[in-house]
Amino acid sequence: EAWTDSLTGIGNRKMFDGTLRSEAAAAMEAGEDLCLLMLDIDFFKKFNDTHGHQIGDQVLKLLAATLIENIKGNDTAARYGGEEFTVILPKTALSSATQVAETIRQRLAKKSIINRRTGKHLGSITLSIGVAQFEFGEPLTQWISRADAALYSAKNRGRNRVVAATSTGQPEHALGA
Ligand code: GH3
Ligand code: MG
Ligand code: MG
Repeated sequence: EAWTDSLTGIGNRKMFDGTLRSEAAAAMEAGEDLCLLMLDIDFFKKFNDTHGHQIGDQVLKLLAATLIENIKGNDTAARYGGEEFTVILPKTALSSATQVAETIRQRLAKKSIINRRTGKHLGSITLSIGVAQFEFGEPLTQWISRADAALYSAKNRGRNRVVAATSTGQPEHALGA
């Protein structure tokens, strides 16, 4: 199927692009909250180098399953590319979206990865997650960039954490004395 990622079975980049556009339009029309999560596996290159690309691929499937387990009917999980994933959360404000991200992060970190063939425990994997709420009228590229900046802030602050993006609005100036 054209909108499905063949490895993980969740939405692909095309699904993400189409859904983001339609949900942004719907949120503006209805005046409803809409949030975006950008997720990236921590130190995944090292995991692949240590355990092999095939086991790495199994981890991507595990992550996709974890996303599906932790979202609801109107939410959309997609593979954005490589080891980066996204979740679109309609009717969800920033604080709730941050909570969803935190639940995903914790649930994945609790799963222990086992090599089925050898039975060997390979430890666990962690995620860094950026969260951004859509601001009516902002370009979609800017919204994605804000989620991305929050994700990179999560990486810089030590990984295995969730960071919420700042809003686009300038801080208000205090007028008068
Ligand atoms: P960081 O914590 O900064 O995100 O470090 P990282 O190693 O995860 O990030 P980096 O961008 O350096 O590397 C991403 C790695 O993800 C590179 C590659 O080994 C792995 N990767 C990307 N796509 C796939 C895939 O489809 N399958 C597998 N097994 N690995 C992938
Ligand atoms: Mg990456
Ligand atoms: Mg990574």
